[in-house]
Amino acid sequence: MSLKLGVIGTGAIGQDHIRRCSQALLGSQVVAVTDINLESAAKVVGDLGLGAEVYPDGRALIQAAEVEAVLVTSWGPSHEEFVLAAIAAGKPVFCEKPLAVTAAGCRRIVEAEIAHGKRLVQVGFMRPYDAGYQALKAVIDSGRIGEPLMLHCAHRNPRVGENYKTDMAITDTLIHELDVLRWLLADDYVSVQVLFPRKTSKALAHLRDPQIVLLETARGTRIDVEVFVNCQYGYDIQCEVVGESGIARLPEPSQVQLRSEAKLSNAILMDWKERFIAAYDVELQAFIDGVRAGQVGGPSAWDGFAAAVAADACIEAQNSGQIVRIELPQRPGFYA
Ligand code: NAP
Repeated sequence: MSLKLGVIGTGAIGQDHIRRCSQALLGSQVVAVTDINLESAAKVVGDLGLGAEVYPDGRALIQAAEVEAVLVTSWGPSHEEFVLAAIAAGKPVFCEKPLAVTAAGCRRIVEAEIAHGKRLVQVGFMRPYDAGYQALKAVIDSGRIGEPLMLHCAHRNPRVGENYKTDMAITDTLIHELDVLRWLLADDYVSVQVLFPRKTSKALAHLRDPQIVLLETARGTRIDVEVFVNCQYGYDIQCEVVGESGIARLPEPSQVQLRSEAKLSNAILMDWKERFIAAYDVELQAFIDGVRAGQVGGPSAWDGFAAAVAADACIEAQNSGQIVRIELPQRPGFYA
């Protein structure tokens, strides 16, 4: 029997996930959708030939008897309400990042899930499902390069729109590194500083770009992440781990190597969606399989909370220019 899914939010990623769950992945069926704009939800159902019911709002969809699990793909500020409602209804919920827009909101979700007594929440951090990051983690965990001492990372986008503000370099962009690097090292952050190099002339007046985020972990590993969202040339994710006895690098996405016109070249992707397209499939298949097996796994509500706590400190560091402590409470045994 297919897992019957209800999807809240039929914007860009909502449509992608609906298509995935109804056409590409195994074992699920989208039976219910909603969006703040009901016409757009109805149009998605029609365009994809889904035969799903359009519910008047997220709460009604969560309560519907036919909905066995929920995908929250609406805009960030609405996530907390829907995830809490899903937990209250005892229904597994996959929530796109951010889990909630404040660390306090993420904490409320953690507490509700612990009170429920069983994991129900998977957060849509997809990088731990990327084959490249998994291969990198396997090398680190094997001990082949010794203990990780330093990480040099970059998150570059060709350009961003007018709505993109300086703090979004943390909440929308760096947030993926905050999650995946913590997972990669199995370590927590303890401090952060943000530096602003010379500003690129390609950024709009209100935006400080690029930025360098310097993180320190509890074991003393130092991480520098360059966030450069108007780099022009491509969408480029880099991660180099310097260990005691060797260096491991995140593999480049597989591309045809070209020998032509006296040049040896590889294309660089321009669109973030292409870079992690397989990882989105794998994370959602893991959610579907986990729910069907009665065991939700993957990035947890605690991971969503940890990323939010670190992001808050990064924003404080952007504003103060100082080194800011990152104080994550002790992880509850529930998330061990
Ligand atoms: P989007 O295109 O703006 O879609 C969001 C949709 O949710 C819109 O249709 C919006 O309607 C609707 N919505 C807003 N409030 C709602 C409510 N209370 N109830 C029901 N629907 C509501 O944004 P998106 O790019 O799909 O992003 C959605 C979420 O996914 C964001 O949290 C984003 O950070 C996350 N995301 C994650 C990744 C990733 O790599 N993991 C990638 C992309 C997006 P209106 O447009 O009418 O407001």
